[in-house]
Amino acid sequence: MDIKITRTENPKVKPTDESKLGFGRIFTDHMFIVEYDKGIGWHDARIVPYGPLCLDPASPVFHYAQEIFEGTKAYRLPNGEVGSFRLIDNARRMNRSADRTCMPALDEDFQVEAISRLIDLDRDWVPSSEGTSLYIRPTMIADGKSLGAHSAERFIYFVICAPSGSYYPDGMKPVRIRIEQRYVRAVKGGMGRAKTGGNYAASFKATKEAMDAGFNQVLWLDGREQKYVEEVGAMNMMFVIDGKIVTAELGDTILPGVTRDSVITLAKDRDMIVEERRISVKELYEAHAEGRLTEAFGTGTAAVISPVGELQYMGESIIINNREIGSVAQMFYDILTGIQRQTVEDIHGWIAVIPHY
Ligand SMILES: *Cc1c(COP(=O)(O)O)cnc(C)c1O
Repeated sequence: MDIKITRTENPKVKPTDESKLGFGRIFTDHMFIVEYDKGIGWHDARIVPYGPLCLDPASPVFHYAQEIFEGTKAYRLPNGEVGSFRLIDNARRMNRSADRTCMPALDEDFQVEAISRLIDLDRDWVPSSEGTSLYIRPTMIADGKSLGAHSAERFIYFVICAPSGSYYPDGMKPVRIRIEQRYVRAVKGGMGRAKTGGNYAASFKATKEAMDAGFNQVLWLDGREQKYVEEVGAMNMMFVIDGKIVTAELGDTILPGVTRDSVITLAKDRDMIVEERRISVKELYEAHAEGRLTEAFGTGTAAVISPVGELQYMGESIIINNREIGSVAQMFYDILTGIQRQTVEDIHGWIAVIPHY
């Protein structure tokens, strides 16, 4: 499929102070759009000036939340080029999310090409200071004009990009996390594995209550027994127990993070033992009491690695690694950001230089 490019005639003023970028508030000059109609398939792929979408108020996305998205980043490389990180894995996950939500797949190589062309066109927007990146948000929504409670027949896939500041402007700092005992995020057979907006809507109340109580995030438990730890907000969780890396096994209820997979791969490269299995809160608290739980950290595109300094369950807190950044968390942070900045060798070929089309 050809991608028609219409350049903006009114380029926006680019932010000059990269320390004030924040996250997801400023968008580049262009966006990618492609449409799908039943019986026709995907059509009219185009890059156009960034701007509002015009949707019918009866579009199913507004009523039945038929929506999925992705999140990935592009980085300014030392030689001034721009690199994407494991984009094909995000395209694959998009299609898995599409399958779960009854939306049409979009060819994975085409997704990568479309995103790469968009980044190429807006490459001057990619910031370069330490920790900054171009955040990329592919999204698919159900469109059309029907309140029928079934899958739509028309869809829109679009990609927008936001130059984003460092996640850690004041340095990496261990967070406080509350283990959620009241609400659940996902259940077996549900949508936990899909990156869909509805999962976020379902999580905001618990997160707000935890934040009002002084925590940064919630750690979700399994939806059935509420015994086993699953994941945090938009991060997978890893624990270091007896020197081994332990993380929840993937299944219906856990989002298979690209960062999670990267950390597991890097750990195995270094002959570290990685266990993907169920982990109960009880096991964590016992391991902590016996001094065997030495670190906990989240993994996700936004933060890369987020060390956890405190976990609280039913009012009882455990302090992890004296609220300091652990050596394992620091090591993975340094390796991953090093690969993204090309100061560490990229043996898995995760970085792709964006072509000049
Ligand atoms: C996106 C996301 C993650 C992290 O995935 P990455 O690919 O590592 O960014 C983890 N959990 C949830 C619920 C997510 O939406």
